[in-house]
Amino acid sequence: MRNKKHAAKSLRGAALVLTLGAAALMVSAQQGPAGGAGGRAPQPLMVHQLKPNIYWVEGAGGNSAVIVGNNGVIVVDTKTTAPAGAELVADVAKITPKPITTVILTHSDGDHVNGLASFPAGIAIIAQENCKTEMQAASNTPAGAALADHMPTRTVTKNMEDATIEGVHLRLLHFAPAHTSGDLMVYLPDDKIMFTGDIVATQSPYPLIHTEKNGTSEGWITTMNGILATDAVTFVPGHGDVQMKADLQKRLADTAARRDQIKALAAQGKSLDDVRQGLNEPPPAARPGGGGGPGGPGGGPGGPAGAAAAARPNMADFTAIVYGEVKK
Ligand SMILES: [Zn+2]
Repeated sequence: MRNKKHAAKSLRGAALVLTLGAAALMVSAQQGPAGGAGGRAPQPLMVHQLKPNIYWVEGAGGNSAVIVGNNGVIVVDTKTTAPAGAELVADVAKITPKPITTVILTHSDGDHVNGLASFPAGIAIIAQENCKTEMQAASNTPAGAALADHMPTRTVTKNMEDATIEGVHLRLLHFAPAHTSGDLMVYLPDDKIMFTGDIVATQSPYPLIHTEKNGTSEGWITTMNGILATDAVTFVPGHGDVQMKADLQKRLADTAARRDQIKALAAQGKSLDDVRQGLNEPPPAARPGGGGGPGGPGGGPGGPAGAAAAARPNMADFTAIVYGEVKK
């Protein structure tokens, strides 16, 4: 059924190409044909250009970045599955004939790293040191085994490290464990563009914290303050559309206010349920898409939010996270 639908879509796509010519061809190429590999066709990717040599790529997991340097290409984050990673690699080849030489990972979640399995062997893979530790732990499990040959080759150990790769000046930032213990922001100071990873994920008003990866809401506040202290102007989040500085300032202010409310209620000795009531917040199970959020390794694309949440029992909602931190 699914495949038939796709076939019909592809035929329509082909007809468009014939009638509308080059413009339609570009759209068709960007959205990607229904791939034949392994039954389920990968979600189409959307390539957005920010500067002559800087792109972000939406779909099939977290946002990715493509930065074309002098002799090679730097990719930030690699999508959820090997087929989606292959599609990203194919999209890079449509942008430039230069080879991918470097991948930078913003954190260890599957929707950002699993596509690495389709990347060329021998490339440099850069990650924060705690991200590498989390990836190594995952590679010992059946779900993460495909990445055993794609571990980071270089780790970031300081809060700020500058690097010039393929002639591109990069600043790699890590302030505190926030979304995970190994978050890394990729900043391009010459263009004032930052790739934040899931520190910013716009489908949720409040941050997503992996407590099982030692993320904390306090570290998230520290991280956002660090991000906002740079002179970055344009921010590509881990999920969602491009953000401006004012968007991030509002996100931080709203989150800090919410966090203070939760802390104040918890300090009064209220139970988590009573804190929720005090905030007029239904319990997670009663909420539409309850407790959802972007995929950890378990959250397959397109799955019902409830199932995804069930597969990730540790991905608690923001209120429960902050409550847990206060009660520690
Ligand atoms: Zn993500």
